[in-house]
Amino acid sequence: MPHTPKFVYAFAEGHKDLKDLLGGKGANLAEMTNLGLPVPPGFTITTEACRAFLATGDEPSGLRHEVEEHLRSLETRMGRRLGQPDDPLLVSVRSGAAFSMPGMMDTVLNIGLSDASVGGLAAQAGDDRFAWDSYRRLIQMFGKTVLGVDGDLFEERLEAVKRAKGASSDLELDTADLRDLVAAYKDLVADASGTEFPQDPRSQLGMAVRAVFASWNGDRARLYRRQEHIPDDLGTAVSIVAMVFGNLGADSGTGVAFTRDPASGKQGVYGDYLANAQGEDVVAGIRNTVPLADLERLDKASYDRLLEIMRVLEDHYRDLCDIEFTIERGTLWMLQTRVGKRTAEAAFRIAAQLVEQGLIDDDEALRRVTGAQLAQLMFPRFADAGGSEPITRGIAASPGAAVGMAVFDQATAVARAHDGERVILVRRETNPDDLAGMVAAEGILTSRGGKTSHAAVVARGMGKTCVCGAEALQVDPARRRFTAPGGVVVAEGDVISVDGSTGCVYLGEAPVVPSAVADHFEAEHVEDETATHGEVGELLRAVDRIMAHADRRRRMRVRANADTGEDAARALRFGAQGIGLLRTEHMFLGERRKHVERLVLADTDDDRAAALDALLPLQRRDFADVLAVMDGLPVTIRLLDPPLHEFLPDLTDLSVRVALAEARGAVDETAAGGADDAALLAAVRRLHEHNPMLGLRGVRLGLVIPGLFAMQIRAIAEAAVERVRAGGTPHAEVMVPLVAGVRELEIIRDEAREVFAAVSRETGVEVALPVGTMIELPRAALTAGRIAEAADFFSFGTNDLTQTTWGFSRDDVEASFFTQYLDAGVFGVSPFETVDADGVGRLVDLAVREGRTTRPDIALGVCGEHGGDPDSVRFFHAIGLDYVSCSPFRLPVARLEAGRAAVLGQADKRADGGVR
Ligand code: PEP
Ligand code: MG
Repeated sequence: MPHTPKFVYAFAEGHKDLKDLLGGKGANLAEMTNLGLPVPPGFTITTEACRAFLATGDEPSGLRHEVEEHLRSLETRMGRRLGQPDDPLLVSVRSGAAFSMPGMMDTVLNIGLSDASVGGLAAQAGDDRFAWDSYRRLIQMFGKTVLGVDGDLFEERLEAVKRAKGASSDLELDTADLRDLVAAYKDLVADASGTEFPQDPRSQLGMAVRAVFASWNGDRARLYRRQEHIPDDLGTAVSIVAMVFGNLGADSGTGVAFTRDPASGKQGVYGDYLANAQGEDVVAGIRNTVPLADLERLDKASYDRLLEIMRVLEDHYRDLCDIEFTIERGTLWMLQTRVGKRTAEAAFRIAAQLVEQGLIDDDEALRRVTGAQLAQLMFPRFADAGGSEPITRGIAASPGAAVGMAVFDQATAVARAHDGERVILVRRETNPDDLAGMVAAEGILTSRGGKTSHAAVVARGMGKTCVCGAEALQVDPARRRFTAPGGVVVAEGDVISVDGSTGCVYLGEAPVVPSAVADHFEAEHVEDETATHGEVGELLRAVDRIMAHADRRRRMRVRANADTGEDAARALRFGAQGIGLLRTEHMFLGERRKHVERLVLADTDDDRAAALDALLPLQRRDFADVLAVMDGLPVTIRLLDPPLHEFLPDLTDLSVRVALAEARGAVDETAAGGADDAALLAAVRRLHEHNPMLGLRGVRLGLVIPGLFAMQIRAIAEAAVERVRAGGTPHAEVMVPLVAGVRELEIIRDEAREVFAAVSRETGVEVALPVGTMIELPRAALTAGRIAEAADFFSFGTNDLTQTTWGFSRDDVEASFFTQYLDAGVFGVSPFETVDADGVGRLVDLAVREGRTTRPDIALGVCGEHGGDPDSVRFFHAIGLDYVSCSPFRLPVARLEAGRAAVLGQADKRADGGVR
């Protein structure tokens, strides 16, 4: 038998878990009905009917009949028919999707009024004006929403009547005026739409239902869905509800209420009330509402009943509820409820409060907060965001609020910060040379690069505010200034404010509030007086409680991406269980560049060996520092990854220098440095690459520059020996970057084994460290089964894997065309931010399975930026990774989401918001 769907549910037939079918509004009206709360009777047409309508442009067969049946029983129950001339039943036709889309779709009130029934309504209500006002509102709403008449035209007619009367508000219009207005509206509808306003109540109802269905695809709704990542194919439900009137006099009214403060989570009476009004009046703001508490004075019985209902709802939903209600001549009616939206702070506080009240358990509390909310709590913010106009906007790359004087190079940043000044480092883009300046700065602003540009990645790692890719800025480091759109010039020393949560840049100082939560994590166990009292104390206790539970529940471990002892110490405070990625490239900068230059210029084995010998003790020191801090915990050290030219002088600068030297040389043959620079220039030219990201880097460098990786491996092994001799328990691991095929790894692994044997022999301390590889190229993922034969562990480098799977250059694409890609729906979120589950994630999943088949005990982790992204962390849990590794500052988010993933179950294998 073919499936005949049921398209209409009476409120008594539904419940709160049928949101997909009945929409949030319909499901919760049903739930409240079944709780015995005063809900005006009605029924809901399913989203399935809407989907069928949208697919064919017509109502599905059977719908009309079902609506008729439900309408008939509604009429029987109410004792009057829809539009009955002497006593009309009126209904509202309300949209309501599974996800809240406030105000994005249509609703029509007062369906059932007509020339024939307006008099009946007046007689029943004992109020002519009310009846005619209701009628004119119906024609206006119906004309606009259902018949597509420009809403401004109704406003113009209304204004004209008001003008003629000398009235400033529509409340001053009397029955005669409203009658005239109804006549004018009817003419307008006929002229503008070519059809008369329908007088038959059933036609009104049918047309309104179809219009609400169609409003799912209205411009506003589509735009909202794109922003909120709500799928386009869900459709809206339509609830048809007997009208109750809040505009029947002083003993009537309408309001909204929250069972707790949605801003702070505090329990109490929160909301607004407007006497003698309908819901739309509250939204339109035509009169000022009064605080809900005032209702106690105005109508004590309704107030007490409302509070009682709020308690019932909280106990039942076990959460903050928001409510819309109407009082009709002293009788309270519930028009809507839902689990209310809240701020990040309120989310944590409410979850913990509900556990303490015994309403939910710790698992449920963990489900009710998100990593994104925690991240929001960890950054400082501007006290009054939006107070003034930004001078420009860039990409919100690392959240937080930073204020300081603009500086244009790292040396100035360091010097000014040393003098106690707060500075914002402004660059076109940053590179590893800017690091000291970035550390010294409060925030970083760049005009180029996206969310995974150097500036963004490093800033996020440091928990530092960053706005990048502010392309409208002309940054002129030479003249030490930048120019913003409109010709605003900001010179060195001028104060600017940078909002890393919105991407906005402001001139001057905006007041900033620091994050108590971040300070609390940093302070670790240190008892801080302010941390235990008041509102902040309650928030911190809530965060602690939920984090502790996440730590108990999570299967995945968390490690940090950290390169120095200082970073490692911070990582421990934030809960790291080891280091998943220690990048060694920072160790080749600064003073040490000269050794790299020597290495590149070396003509003979001896020259090369001398350069490497100079680097060895420096590297050993670096590693020993980190191993000391992370004693007893794994530390994965990655061998050099970036192309060597990154450590050499810039081609253009060097060319100029050599050209100048040669010009001088014509005069003075012995110009100092000229010969070295010429050799260096030749090397820089030789190493120059058009696509360095795809060039001589990673393991390729290790294979082409003899001794380079062996030196690094020796430094690691000797650092481990040093720790052992000092009584420590080092767990260093050697990681090879950018492997594409097993042979590359085998060569380096064999080289490593030789070094371990040599160091063991020389020192008498046995060293045999695990050797593993990054999986960051599609070929590595596809051949992971083979690669696992030579690898003790895999660490997924999802930054490069995303870059190479999509063929996107990460430093270039985000700022240049990602906005268009997001707008066009190619992806819902940048794949550099949330792992692209369908593509990149599939490669990771494949490599996990094949790697484990070859080597069941292989350790599997991820160290790309995605390791600290909430949705991605849940994905990595689902595919069975052992750990995620991310910047220290993102560790709490990773811990929380790993815990949430464990309690949310394995069902959601796809990360949310991935590629469609
Ligand atoms: C990666 O590619 O994901 C990774 C961690 O390496 P890097 O970002 O240093 O290239
Ligand atoms: Mg990489």
